[in-house]
Amino acid sequence: MTAALRPACVVVCLAATGAAAVIGAAPAVRYRLTYAANSARVHVQISAPPVATNASRTLVIPRAVPGRYADEPYDRFISDVEAFDASGKRLAVSRGDGSRWRVGQAARVAYDVDMARMEQEIPDGTDASRVRPNYVGVLGYSVFGFFENEDERPVELDVEAPGGWPVFSTLAPAGGAIRATNYYELADSQTVLGTAVRVAAVEYTRQRDVPLTLAVYPETSVDRTRLERLAGEAMTAVLEYFDGSGAAPFSRYTVFLEFLKPVSERHAYGFGMEHLESFHASMAVADADPARFPDARLRYHMAHHIAHAWIPKRCYGEGYYPFTWDHAPQIDTIWFSEGFAQYAAIVALATSAEQREEMLESRFRRVLREAPAPLRRMGLRELSLLASTQYSADFRIGQLTFSRGGLMAAEMDDRIRADTHGQKSLREALRSLIAWSAQSHRAFRVEELPARFREATGVETRDILDRWLAPLD
Ligand SMILES: [Zn+2]
Repeated sequence: MTAALRPACVVVCLAATGAAAVIGAAPAVRYRLTYAANSARVHVQISAPPVATNASRTLVIPRAVPGRYADEPYDRFISDVEAFDASGKRLAVSRGDGSRWRVGQAARVAYDVDMARMEQEIPDGTDASRVRPNYVGVLGYSVFGFFENEDERPVELDVEAPGGWPVFSTLAPAGGAIRATNYYELADSQTVLGTAVRVAAVEYTRQRDVPLTLAVYPETSVDRTRLERLAGEAMTAVLEYFDGSGAAPFSRYTVFLEFLKPVSERHAYGFGMEHLESFHASMAVADADPARFPDARLRYHMAHHIAHAWIPKRCYGEGYYPFTWDHAPQIDTIWFSEGFAQYAAIVALATSAEQREEMLESRFRRVLREAPAPLRRMGLRELSLLASTQYSADFRIGQLTFSRGGLMAAEMDDRIRADTHGQKSLREALRSLIAWSAQSHRAFRVEELPARFREATGVETRDILDRWLAPLD
């Protein structure tokens, strides 16, 4: 099937009255993203209801990405920041501390984002938005800012693209108005424009439960049927793991893949980034070759990032959410976010106990054997705090963090299965924790995990937690 793409919308010009559309009770913040053909930049406009007489606004541009575990100062690609009050009068703009602009009583701000420079200067392909011929790929957090303390307002997004260019948003994969509950959801979304993008609904086992869309921007020939099959298999397996035949915590999902000609030898491709309703990965063109990136590896890559839609996107330790956009937060549970999610993906995909063992060996155990002594001597929470900013800068740090978490998960799973004679497993413990997170709307504390797992399974896991949190040597 082709094309959940919708035509570029005609943008209704917002009169500079400050009047805002209303979703529910709260007035929305309206974003407009404009791209003119052949430009290296995108233009962003943000309009919000007027501020109170004595109040003033501050525009914030992210310097961090949920799940990135590093600072990513996108403000350096922003220029020509302008502000206007509710009557349309231009206001003075001045740079504040960090990634901030003081914009006074602005009802509207506008600025440019240099997409070409962003791609040049960010060596990890998955962290950059980009402009290529007949294509613009926009990561929400890399271009959209917000007014400080107003990030919980609902959001509406209009996109203005060159004539004939389709527009796709992960916030509205079937088309229609693009809306988000708050700034976080907008920042977490992807918008892709252009005639070089291929978007299609994926036919797969659970398509009625979670409509799945595959968006691909390829700079080489790709086997779309294969990509759709792998995406469907990964989603089916992970849905089954976390929710069985029950409802998923999201009503749609997009797998967004780029296959890119590298910008330079310095640039790296192949990492993925998880989102609430999508995951995106910027791969190299060579990765489209199944001989180089075989089915099993790509299916796991997808399942791993799809699993993140549950952990940590909707079930997380302290520091992960609410998110601090000014700098990468210190998080002492990355071993859970990464290790437990990857373990879930492994169990979801493994078709036998032997296959699970093989994946644990190649993914986790090998990393433990090869880990350098200074990292082995760190407690796991301490290592996770280091990984909060150094996860992939020195991937030995990231790998050891998720491997220790993954092996902790495996050991807990084995004990729960043994003690319940196969009646329960870690899956029931995680399902229960995820349900608790949805109800409580808060981060769990590490100390709470064993009690929650015991409630769900009747099995004590505190000694396993404590042992894996301790230094390895
Ligand atoms: Zn991950």
